[in-house]
Amino acid sequence: MGMPISKPSAGWVSGPGDRMAEEQSCESLRRQLEEMTLRNNERNNYINSIFSAMEDGFVLTDPSGAVVFFNKSAENLLDIDASFLFEGARRENPAMEKILAEGKEAQAGGEAKSFELRNHEGLDLQVSLSRVTSKYGDKEPIGVLAIVKDVTERKKIETIRKEFVANVSHEFRTPLTLISGFIEMLKMYGDLPEEDRKRSLEILEIETGRLKKLISELLLLSKMENRVGLEGEAAIDLPKVLGQVAKVMGPLAEKKRQKITLRLGSFSQPPRLRGDENWLFHAFRNLLDNAIKYSGEGTEIEIAAEESASEARIEFKDQGPGIAADNLERIFERFYRVDGSRSSRTGGSGLGLAIVKDIVAIFRGRVEVESEVGRGSTFRISLPLGNTE
Ligand code: ADP
Repeated sequence: MGMPISKPSAGWVSGPGDRMAEEQSCESLRRQLEEMTLRNNERNNYINSIFSAMEDGFVLTDPSGAVVFFNKSAENLLDIDASFLFEGARRENPAMEKILAEGKEAQAGGEAKSFELRNHEGLDLQVSLSRVTSKYGDKEPIGVLAIVKDVTERKKIETIRKEFVANVSHEFRTPLTLISGFIEMLKMYGDLPEEDRKRSLEILEIETGRLKKLISELLLLSKMENRVGLEGEAAIDLPKVLGQVAKVMGPLAEKKRQKITLRLGSFSQPPRLRGDENWLFHAFRNLLDNAIKYSGEGTEIEIAAEESASEARIEFKDQGPGIAADNLERIFERFYRVDGSRSSRTGGSGLGLAIVKDIVAIFRGRVEVESEVGRGSTFRISLPLGNTE
């Protein structure tokens, strides 16, 4: 009797040729799978690198409120580490507690929300929370994403801007109040004695002059901020500019019988200082204006300039009242005045030295002051010299 022959059932029994084909397809499947895993890993690496490089912090929580992911910036901004992935092991962290509590609310309420907080280093952070939903099926919530931005600089600029507007308004209000008061008086009393009338007009002149000066100083600051007129890159002849400043301010000094002495050392020809001459002129004029304004009658003001291998140094030395040590650091701030009185007759707007400082910064130089109460002040500007070649 021969062996029963049964028909091999398809797919289960195969001959040697079929087996080879099967092994080959298995191998190619394995290779495909390996390649997919590799690509997946690469993609994960790629995504991780992007998240790590991002300036904003990211914290992702799952629907139970547990932290599942955060990036490098979140680590720094919120002072967190891997322990935050394990609820029991978490360190105390008020910023993170606030984010997790608000996150739970956002999860329940479904609304995106945003709030600000201050972190462990005193930085102002803005946190935006939004629900993350699955992109498959029924868009079921899969957690909450917190995006954390460092807004410290923006807040600082906002504060400076607000203070600046308040200061400018105040500076305008004082002279304007005086001007309208005197106009009112002149209108009411047509028979004002000649002496009083003259005095009133003088005050009107002083106060309108003050407003004009304030406006031109504000325009100058705005030009500097917008870098207007900084295209000028010509060689600057320092002795010539200083001579012009002394000449322009001469009549003011003469009124107070003050003597301006110019002491100019030898300067290289052609000059090695480049930039816009007008800006330097403004800075020098402000310093000389202060020296004249704050020094007494008959005093001497010395302007000295010299050049070394690397820089030009210009000094304005007066015999005025001097500045107390605790004010020295602040006099270069916008609107800062030593006497603090905004209605002071001698003082201007408190913008003069701030402008000097900004101009010197444009030339990459520095401005310093040495002063002793009762003995006068010396303002020194140092400007780095370029190469004419
Ligand atoms: P202001 O418009 O009031 O002159 P500045 O910014 O030029 O403003 O100066 C700021 C303050 O520094 C002045 O209010 C003044 O008290 C003080 N100051 C500046 N220069 C001198 C100086 N040469 N001698 C004494 N005090 C000075």
